[in-house]
Amino acid sequence: MAIESINPATGEVVKTFEPHTAEEVNEKIAAADKAFQGWRNVSFEERAGHMHRQADILDKEAAHYGRIISLEMGKPLKEAVAEVKKCALACRYYAVHAADFMQDEEIETKASRSLIAFEPLGVVLAVMPWNFPFWQAYRFLAPALMAGNVGLLKHASNVPQCALAIEEIVRKAGFPDNVFQTLLIASEEVNAVIAHPLVQAVTLTGSEGAGSKVGGQAGREIKKTVLELGGSDAFIVLEDADLDKAAEVGVKSRMVNTGQSCIAAKRFIVVESVADAFLEKMKVRMARLKTGDPLTDDCDYGPLARKDLAVDLEKQVQQSVAQGAEVVLDGGRDGNDSAYFKPMILKDVKPGMPAYEEELFGPVAAVMVVKDEAEAIKVANDSRYGLGGAVWTQDKDRGLRVARQVETGAMFVNELVHSSPEMPFGGIKKSGYGRELSYLGIREFVNQKSIWVA
Ligand code: NDP
Repeated sequence: MAIESINPATGEVVKTFEPHTAEEVNEKIAAADKAFQGWRNVSFEERAGHMHRQADILDKEAAHYGRIISLEMGKPLKEAVAEVKKCALACRYYAVHAADFMQDEEIETKASRSLIAFEPLGVVLAVMPWNFPFWQAYRFLAPALMAGNVGLLKHASNVPQCALAIEEIVRKAGFPDNVFQTLLIASEEVNAVIAHPLVQAVTLTGSEGAGSKVGGQAGREIKKTVLELGGSDAFIVLEDADLDKAAEVGVKSRMVNTGQSCIAAKRFIVVESVADAFLEKMKVRMARLKTGDPLTDDCDYGPLARKDLAVDLEKQVQQSVAQGAEVVLDGGRDGNDSAYFKPMILKDVKPGMPAYEEELFGPVAAVMVVKDEAEAIKVANDSRYGLGGAVWTQDKDRGLRVARQVETGAMFVNELVHSSPEMPFGGIKKSGYGRELSYLGIREFVNQKSIWVA
């Protein structure tokens, strides 16, 4: 079946692509491995030169590539352009630091010399999602290539133009042929790629279901995986929080990328003494947001990336309301046939409701009112997910104490949860395992080799 690029703002099929055949995929894997044999021996300095050139292209052509992102998955252009520029940051970060991160580590033993060497593994497959179609891919690409690995990208089927654009940027930056290639294939073809003897490891960002399937196949093949899956981040508001700031950042966090972010604030856990005041501030700010054509400047949120995602979100909301959730801000689908979904706030969200148990991947805030800090932590931890989270209090020590008790891969005190090249990113529980970014990210797909000299 052809792979279609559909503009979710209009429903128009913009382009179609013929998927690669099994034979073409095998050729690409072989070419990747061949490229690896040369690339693994290229100096860090030379790799960094390519990576810096890539960063320059991303910065210079951010408007062009941002437009491709917006047209293909619907995020506001200003957010898409910022995403492309963030990719440049990651490229520069690893260009500058990779040599240090991959430096031999001397260890004291009874040997005359003993050390840990960090060596690339070879061909790594990246299965990536559509929500940040550039950033998710670059979070893998920049450290992987700097480590001396080569990459194959199986991007989400609704962003083939983004996938090809990334391949084009790598080429324009002057990297050797085939160190990074896009595979235009359906998810059903992924198992065969994982099983291929020349593919050494897999990373996946996406849903829990996809992670479980890809992780399962890689496990059977005894291949290393990193899984960055869903999240249902808690946004804890304590009674001593700056409510204006918390409401402002809370709405931003819920609405970033039209609510389609794994680290968006999804469960607002608010202490009862400030719940009404906080909710009112949040409601006012959320109701003010404007939608429209994602390419225009005053569009705060666009359509969801696909119509089926809006339909699924609507079902989660309807089911939660049927089970007793109160609608504080009404929105949702316009009863139309589009992928647009107006922001909503649900209160009295309780265990058993989809809004409590599942990831809401769109602009719907689920609010739970709690007695105090202890109950807030308990509710925050009552989730199958453990990706990120935030706590709001004017007492920084208290914030740090709460942050340590929430079971997630990252906690932010009085700040928007976000990823940055310097800090590791990833989850626990059903949010996955392994880390991206930082020095930990580059060491996921390397052979951490012990060398002992008697
Ligand atoms: P998926 O998890 O299905 O897609 C993510 C990537 O995985 C895509 O490249 C997809 O390919 C691939 N994939 C899916 N199933 C398999 C499989 N069995 N074997 C191999 N690869 C597979 O996300 P959806 O687009 O279906 O979104 C559904 C939900 O997933 C969202 O509503 C959200 O809850 C969650 N999600 C979370 C993300 C995050 O950042 N944590 C990102 C995206 C989604 P293909 O597109 O060809 O199916």
